[in-house]
Amino acid sequence: MKIRILGCSGGIGARQRTTAILVDDDILIDAGTGLGDLSLEDVGKLRHIFLTHAHLDHVAGLPMLVDTVFDQRLGSPLEIYTQTETIQALRDHVFNGVIWPDFTRLPDADDPVIRFNEIVAGDRIGVDDREFLAVAVEHAVPTVGFLVRSGEFHVGFSGDTGANTTLWEALNAVPRLDALIVDVSFPNAQRPLAVHSGHYCPATLAEDLASLRHPSPIWLTAMKPGYEAQILEEVRAVLPGREVRRLMDGDELLL
Ligand SMILES: [Zn+2]
Repeated sequence: MKIRILGCSGGIGARQRTTAILVDDDILIDAGTGLGDLSLEDVGKLRHIFLTHAHLDHVAGLPMLVDTVFDQRLGSPLEIYTQTETIQALRDHVFNGVIWPDFTRLPDADDPVIRFNEIVAGDRIGVDDREFLAVAVEHAVPTVGFLVRSGEFHVGFSGDTGANTTLWEALNAVPRLDALIVDVSFPNAQRPLAVHSGHYCPATLAEDLASLRHPSPIWLTAMKPGYEAQILEEVRAVLPGREVRRLMDGDELLL
């Protein structure tokens, strides 16, 4: 399994893209602006999209992606897996015939470009030899993280989240964890804002990470532009001995 980070920033700026993670060449986790760096050929290989939640930085690339693959369909829709609330938000506010066409009914309802698949936390969705476990997390809107398994390897992606117990229980339940990609959007000085908006700051992450039994490397994501160095320094200060690094656009993980 190959994981390639197309975008992992909490905002945009020079060469910064929002969340989109490519798994091998056919699966996306989230569809932020990082999608825009995929070649037309690579866009055409996408078959499955797992969405953590409806926030714009995680879905902003989806409407244009759908438009691009309109002529490249391989006889089946692009399958989108996410919670009911996220599907409803996309139907109401994006694919509503005003902001963007309803591609779940185009070119016709029996042969659409995209198809929504409702999932709930706890569901395991298999795509060939890869499995995605949806894990409930705590954010401002209904959100799931994903625990991705390929063979014996596991990678966790928190999605956007603040303090919770469910993610850590799910991670502790697998025999090994090869990497954890986790949201740390704000520095400690903005802890009230982080708590209010459903994100970790270094201090709250360290409190929850204490329950993780795996010595996995921690990759920090979704950091607000301009605060990356400060957040990284603060996380390393509260997690001595733990491998902690800043996730970067273009990073690749081979498992
Ligand atoms: Zn969010």
